[in-house]
Amino acid sequence: MAEKKKKTYVAASEETKEAAKQIRKQAKPVGNASGKRVGAVVCWIIALIFEVCALMVFLGKLDLKFMPQLYQLIAFLVLDLIFVIIGSQLWKQANHIDPVSEENAVKFWLWNNMGVIVASVAFVPFAILALTDKNADKKTKTIATVAAVICLLIGGVASYDFNPVSSEQKAAAVNALGSETVYWTTFGKVYHTHDDCSHLNQSETLTYGTVEEAIAANRVRLCKTCANRDNISGVATEN
Ligand SMILES: [Zn+2]
Repeated sequence: MAEKKKKTYVAASEETKEAAKQIRKQAKPVGNASGKRVGAVVCWIIALIFEVCALMVFLGKLDLKFMPQLYQLIAFLVLDLIFVIIGSQLWKQANHIDPVSEENAVKFWLWNNMGVIVASVAFVPFAILALTDKNADKKTKTIATVAAVICLLIGGVASYDFNPVSSEQKAAAVNALGSETVYWTTFGKVYHTHDDCSHLNQSETLTYGTVEEAIAANRVRLCKTCANRDNISGVATEN
């Protein structure tokens, strides 16, 4: 009998140790879409009130006295921006929890771009007024316009949904995966059906949940590698 070859044993606990390095957290439960939509609209109304305040300061109709006019203008624009962004985040979350149908292209577009539309309404009128006003001095006009344009850019980008999802896409994913556990990483754009997927090797934190929770968490596509492994078709994939 040949001499037994010396084997390197890897204890099962090694593997456990490896796995333990990876932090796993359960996905947040999917929230209430209509509550978030109401919250978004309230934030947006508050944002528009701050835009009106900024306009009134610019026109000399509102003066807080304890701050120079320019600071007041910028303060109101920043408050305007903060509420635009909070509102848009809530709106985006609602669109991912309860997506609209692709069938009505106009509604689909409007719903998914509402945040950007509101961001425009929240800054463009002010910017136009600041730019065209004949009474204000040049310095105030310039700073007010530039501040409004910067807010518009930040607000627009923060409000834009880079991963829009339709009710049809969500239904297809839920149909294919049901209540199966899926995984995603902190910065990853897709969700995986296998926690040992090669694309997850480098990730320290893994969130797990249902496909509904993944979509609510802004991961609207399934990993292509995982889809091939499971022979899943009809679900939006990406690598
Ligand atoms: Zn994968």
